[in-house]
Amino acid sequence: MRATLLYQAGDVRVEDVPDPKIQQPTDSVIRIVIGCVCGSDLWPYKSAPFTDHPRQMGHEFIGVVEETGPDVHNVKPGDLVVAPFTYADNTCEYCRMGLHTSCRHGGQWGLNGVDGGQGEACRVPYADGTLVKLPVTEDSPLLPDLLTLSDVMCTGYHAARTAGVKPGESVTVIGDGAVGLCAVIAARLLGAGRIILMGRHAPRTDLGREFGATDVVAQRGQDGVAAVRELTGGFGTERVLECVGLKDALVQSAAVVRDGGTISRVGAPQYPEVPFGFPEFLRNITLTGGVAPARGYMEELMPRILSGEIHPGRVFDRTVPLGQVAEGYRLMNDREALKVIVRP
Ligand SMILES: [Zn+2]
Ligand SMILES: [Zn+2]
Repeated sequence: MRATLLYQAGDVRVEDVPDPKIQQPTDSVIRIVIGCVCGSDLWPYKSAPFTDHPRQMGHEFIGVVEETGPDVHNVKPGDLVVAPFTYADNTCEYCRMGLHTSCRHGGQWGLNGVDGGQGEACRVPYADGTLVKLPVTEDSPLLPDLLTLSDVMCTGYHAARTAGVKPGESVTVIGDGAVGLCAVIAARLLGAGRIILMGRHAPRTDLGREFGATDVVAQRGQDGVAAVRELTGGFGTERVLECVGLKDALVQSAAVVRDGGTISRVGAPQYPEVPFGFPEFLRNITLTGGVAPARGYMEELMPRILSGEIHPGRVFDRTVPLGQVAEGYRLMNDREALKVIVRP
């Protein structure tokens, strides 16, 4: 089969790799119908050193089950399924508490002999726990919306949930990427009264308004902080959802959160030290968040997509065939596209 391989920064290729086969009784093999490029794929795309053993890329995908091992009972050949961005058994102590990213048997796509999601097919470990069956057909127009359950919609939701957004509260969302826009949807789902979206790209913040942002602040740094404070009577917002992953965004979060408030960071941190010291201590600010256990939220969010209540698939603004996946990476890296669908 063909799959996407990252050789080094800026060097993404589609090449033949061995066809996936059932290796464990709990495995399934799926034919991938739709996948996409993630903002987190861009970190290695920007910086990875050359390797002779390139990793299969991609961790967000929907596919059709082709084959199952003898211990797989929840999905069967022909089922259309969505996978979260890490696989998990959905039965261990961590999974039972909704922390599937810490699953004792879980792991990442594209590592340790497991395929990635930007390819033609994939071996899925712990298929019963990992995969969620979709009640639509593979030509459904809802596929892009349902694909966001793999990562960005669940990650945005994780930000709002861990921040503890409650009805009527004020929320600042930092970042107008796909996760930030999904965090706007999530804040609205949880009943936030005021949602201030901080972002500089008008087409993206316009979409954020349609998703539920009540205000947009395009300024950064001190000007941006002043604008949020002005909108909130000088206080800042009760919750801040940090969806970027850079140190500046966390500093900005602390500057726009109200005393006693909560910052949840779901952008993968690209900095080793957290600037969270005595001043934040004096203001009783809580810092929470982390990697999103997407699998734990999929069943909860899927009905809201199927009913048409939320439409997170609107974050996809380009589609490329698998053979042009390198162009998909370039488009996202150069900010010419917000999020790119890959069709095998
Ligand atoms: Zn992702
Ligand atoms: Zn588990």
